Amino acid sequence: MSLSDHPRAYGTAAVALSFIAGILVTLGFKDLYPDLERRFQQRGGGTSRRKPIPDKRRRSSIFWGVQLEDHESESSIVVPGAAQIPRDAGISEGIEGCIGRTPLIHIRSLSEATGRTILAKAEFLNGAGNSPKDRVALSMIRSAEEAGRLKPGRGDTIYEGTVGSTGISIAALARAMGYRAHICMPDDQSMEKSDLLHHLGATVERVPVQPIASPEHFVNLARRRAAEHTASATRENPSVGFFADQFESDANWHAHLSTTGPEIYYQTDNGHLDAFVAGAGTGGTISGVAKYLKETAKLHDLKVVLADPQGSGLYNKIRHGVMYSNTEKEGTRRRQQVDTIVEGIGINRVTENLEVGRDLIDTAVRVTDAQACAMARWLVEHDGIFCGSSSAVNCVASVVAALSLPKGSTVVTVLCDPGMRHLSKFYKKVADMGLEDDDKPKDLLTLLGIEKPKTR
Ligand code: PMP
Repeated sequence: MSLSDHPRAYGTAAVALSFIAGILVTLGFKDLYPDLERRFQQRGGGTSRRKPIPDKRRRSSIFWGVQLEDHESESSIVVPGAAQIPRDAGISEGIEGCIGRTPLIHIRSLSEATGRTILAKAEFLNGAGNSPKDRVALSMIRSAEEAGRLKPGRGDTIYEGTVGSTGISIAALARAMGYRAHICMPDDQSMEKSDLLHHLGATVERVPVQPIASPEHFVNLARRRAAEHTASATRENPSVGFFADQFESDANWHAHLSTTGPEIYYQTDNGHLDAFVAGAGTGGTISGVAKYLKETAKLHDLKVVLADPQGSGLYNKIRHGVMYSNTEKEGTRRRQQVDTIVEGIGINRVTENLEVGRDLIDTAVRVTDAQACAMARWLVEHDGIFCGSSSAVNCVASVVAALSLPKGSTVVTVLCDPGMRHLSKFYKKVADMGLEDDDKPKDLLTLLGIEKPKTR
């Protein structure tokens, strides 16, 4: 007996088959949809106004009375023989593909101590040089290539004056993108950084600390070395020297305007933050992020706060309009330009990168070396976060900024580089100060010497 002999039975079977097919298609779409949604949001570079998908497991489904275990979530998938893996754990195009999209960490201990949410952008997780400078180095190299100033494989060399982080990013990316790197840095920076640069295949010149007006200042030396390289080009060796110039280059703050800022906006559920706190070395991070959040995303009520280490003149520049630090006082001028143990932030001149966003900075918080050391150890003990000195300064300033805002406010800051880079200097001081011992204040604000605010 065939179905064609019985049209009614044929019709019933067709309806049943369509019904089952419909259910299967729906289930398939349900699995596919979150991935499509995520890709759509990613393509928007984080600037999409859509709400981000919450990072939680999807409900399991009941299908014909059978509980279907749904192990996958919007952000992860299950592969045979393994635990869940992130959906976007795909293939990166070289080390350049491992830059950006860093997580925003909820720092629980600081949030609990202040009654405000403190989040930190984990920039030490950038994959080439482990700092926000990866974004900047990539941006500077790409814009030089677009302008025809660098050509891969010709023997071109990127020259830069840097206290370390930018050099490390340039050194790693230079090799990946077909160039050489030559880094000039002051000799008061930790040896870990110059050793690392050497092992990354860069030429390193550690030079005595000099004022910026001196031709031997590390930035001026890098500029000169690039010019010398270009001047020595021959027909057999037409390679050129390119001075990256992070302090003045627009490609620096642009990198934060186009990536860091939008990522923070997206990660805070489309701009639900009350303050952004960052130190300034070149000023690229604070200017670029402030420009994106205040001007592009139009978060007009956002407070942008400069975190400034002791000895830097920026605090006074932002608060009082005059660049001045105690180390500049007559008769007290020290060997170093910015007299602090903190590396990477604090400066006594206004760079182009800071100038671009200076009007968007609402206030500044000065952080002492003792506070930075205490915070660094606090983060290790309470949160397992082992970060560098500039990150510790950012966190102290975030606590101060948070306490000036109403309870429940959200503050975003930056964890710039890993603690491993600061063992011989900063973490040695942390240990010398007795901060690794147990007999110190258990309360964060007492430890930092910050007055408890009257409840708001
Ligand atoms: N932290 C570290 C460790 C750095 O090296 C730098 C850059 N010098 C910064 C923070 C500050 O970043 P920016 O140059 O964007 O102001």
